[in-house]
Amino acid sequence: MERPVRVRFAPSPTGPLHIGGVRTALYNYLFARQNGGKMILRIEDTDQTRFVPGAEQYIIEALTWLGIEFDEGVHIGGPFGPYRQSDRKPMYREYADQLIRDGWAYYAFDKPEALEAKRKEFESQKKTFQYDCNTRSEMENSLSLPEDEVQRRIESGEPYVVRFKFPAHTEITVHDLIRGDVTMNSDLLDDKVLFKSDGMPTYHLANIVDDHTMEISHVIRGEEWLPSAPLHVMLYKAFGWEDTMPHFAHLPLLLKPEGNGKLSKRDGDRLGFPVFPLDWHDPKSGELSSGYREKGYMPAAVVNILALLGWNPGTEQEILSMEELIKLFNIEHISKSGAKFNVEKAKWFNHEYLQMESDEAIADMFEPQLKAHNITASRDYVVKVCGMMKERLNFPSELWDTCCYFFEAPTEYDPAAIKKRWKPGMTTHMNKIIEILETVPFEYEKLHTAILDEYIVGNQLNMGQIMNSLRLAVVGKTVGPDMLTLVMVLGKDETIKRVRRAIEVIGEVEN
Ligand code: GLU
Repeated sequence: MERPVRVRFAPSPTGPLHIGGVRTALYNYLFARQNGGKMILRIEDTDQTRFVPGAEQYIIEALTWLGIEFDEGVHIGGPFGPYRQSDRKPMYREYADQLIRDGWAYYAFDKPEALEAKRKEFESQKKTFQYDCNTRSEMENSLSLPEDEVQRRIESGEPYVVRFKFPAHTEITVHDLIRGDVTMNSDLLDDKVLFKSDGMPTYHLANIVDDHTMEISHVIRGEEWLPSAPLHVMLYKAFGWEDTMPHFAHLPLLLKPEGNGKLSKRDGDRLGFPVFPLDWHDPKSGELSSGYREKGYMPAAVVNILALLGWNPGTEQEILSMEELIKLFNIEHISKSGAKFNVEKAKWFNHEYLQMESDEAIADMFEPQLKAHNITASRDYVVKVCGMMKERLNFPSELWDTCCYFFEAPTEYDPAAIKKRWKPGMTTHMNKIIEILETVPFEYEKLHTAILDEYIVGNQLNMGQIMNSLRLAVVGKTVGPDMLTLVMVLGKDETIKRVRRAIEVIGEVEN
């Protein structure tokens, strides 16, 4: 009988959460929600040397921002707590002891220097040292030393670790929901440390004990854990928990935009896109790594981007809400090969999501920028401008540059545009346009007829030159929305003022 779905996201608080980790959390979440299961946040902090203050809070804040919710976890508690491994420390020891008792693990006393010497010795023979069935008898452990000697060492407080004892020459198969059966021979595997001399379990032991005791049904995690999976499968066997062993799914790597190698923090710096969900200030170096949130990505866009990096719905549909993703997600459509990060596509997604925001919401994003530029404008006007201009935006941070001329008359005029458009006689044309604006009723259609049809076409003038010069006068450069729409928004007086000023500043030119 299939067990209820319980999945976990189990990050180590060693720094900011990479977007690859966010994707792992997202896929777990989609799977849990789709199956009416539970989503758990467990913090794996057994490696105290790599602990980074603030990382756990960062992870929670990032996932909350993205709408990835948990049913149980370190921040909300739950019936299987505690959910932070350092808070579970007292329970791991007995599991290590059980494995020793049953012959699945052993004490190893080798000092770091002795292990280093062994490594060197192997290297000098162009071989790689591995603590395994071939070498363990040469090392100092409870398999090679007499029993009373082992006892004496333990009682005298000599430091030791507990290692897993891989059975020799055994094929171990991991059934992976994405890759199918992955088989490895135990001779290739290291007798991994399960319990350290500092009294803490390693990731491997704690992870298996927790997944078992938290009744995890599916382990969905990054591909970098696939090499550890045979050990994990063997641990389930060693504990006698095979019947309730979770299903495994190892997600493909997120690759650099060029497609060669794993996406790293440096790629983000190099290509100018974030690889972290939120800004992260490194507590040690003070270095800032930028985040999607602060760059102006919408959370729903980030979710959509990440969902499609390594998974597809089997249709052409690209814009998918969280609800749709929950409905459509399936492990079978996760690809085996790595997914290339595409910066331009990410921007496109954000553009699309920005279009779904109301004009009011965009105006809210704009207000702080207007304030920073000391602009006071009526709310209605700001909302109207946002409605007109949002289709040109990928990010809210572009609002000021894209819309500033709605709030401020230009102080400079693009010299290239002057050269190209402001031909001799242009001041006369501009004065004529001022005259029309002053006399014709200020309505779109009427102005269109008077300026474009009657004045320009009627006199066989150059439409491109005159309309672009008008634009140059009003905007300062030849960008912006439909010219008369812009005139209508700015109003009669402001438009006339701007055209007058351009005539004054640019003046009449010689050919
Ligand atoms: N603590 C591991 C990590 O940081 C979790 C791996 C797993 O999900 O088993 O990625």
